[in-house]
Amino acid sequence: MLSRKAEDYLEAILNITETNGYAKIKHIAETLDVTPPSVIEMVKKLDKKGCVTYKKYGGVTLTEKGRGIARVVKDRHDTLKAFLEIITVPEKIADKDACTMEHELHSVTVKQIKNLVNFVKTSPGHPQWLGHFEEFCETGEHPCGEERRSKSE
Ligand code: MN
Repeated sequence: MLSRKAEDYLEAILNITETNGYAKIKHIAETLDVTPPSVIEMVKKLDKKGCVTYKKYGGVTLTEKGRGIARVVKDRHDTLKAFLEIITVPEKIADKDACTMEHELHSVTVKQIKNLVNFVKTSPGHPQWLGHFEEFCETGEHPCGEERRSKSE
């Protein structure tokens, strides 16, 4: 089991290496908003655990094990962020909160949230109930109720 912090590092390193091939200490520090010495400390720990390879001048790369863990965390992050955006949480907050939730939620919960996200995303067109939800957030009233009333008049 890795600490929450270690998971965050692996996720950040994955995101950086996806664009650059490897991650520089400086870049990891900027991404996680920590100091380079703390990055080096964690990277050495992750190297010992077989999750990354750290070469002083070559930067940090993920091992197969590290990449596997990072992918799971990133997948959780993407799922939770998408869910929060569906319920109209602004992108920046959704991104931040996804990072908190990704470590804490039970895998069954994440799986069901992922099912919901996929259900909404594969729904033909913008789901009507989602529009109703957005309206409900703004007005506090359920648009369906009104619809039903005017139809029966
Ligand atoms: Mn995250």
